Amino acid sequence: DHYKNPKNKGLKNTDPYHMVHLTNPSCGDDMRVEIIVSDGQVVDVRQDGKGCSICLSSASVMSELLIGKSVEEAKSLIDGFYSMVKGEDLPDEDKLEEAIAYKGVRDFPARIKCATLAWKCVEKAIEEVEEHE
Ligand code: ZN
Repeated sequence: DHYKNPKNKGLKNTDPYHMVHLTNPSCGDDMRVEIIVSDGQVVDVRQDGKGCSICLSSASVMSELLIGKSVEEAKSLIDGFYSMVKGEDLPDEDKLEEAIAYKGVRDFPARIKCATLAWKCVEKAIEEVEEHE
């Protein structure tokens, strides 16, 4: 249960972590995600925030899924997650592992922003790290 026992929770606030902070005002979710990218690999993902159970558990699941992936794989998984929660069919949704649990969010449009907030953070963090390379 990623809500009760969140993974990779707590920020380091040190180099070489790169942090992105985003909010979802419609629900009150407030999420911070830190990443380390090295040699094209997502070496670590940390997450911390306040908000609803969907937002917080999704952040935990996202961190578990993306640690150790290449940046290209991570981007593809993030895009796949967005497609899934928007209701599009994903031929390779198995790759999302536990994140498949959020498939039902497609029936609750107001919750899509909750489920994707941490993923938006990590997506932006990857973009910003790449811009600095
Ligand atoms: Zn929420």
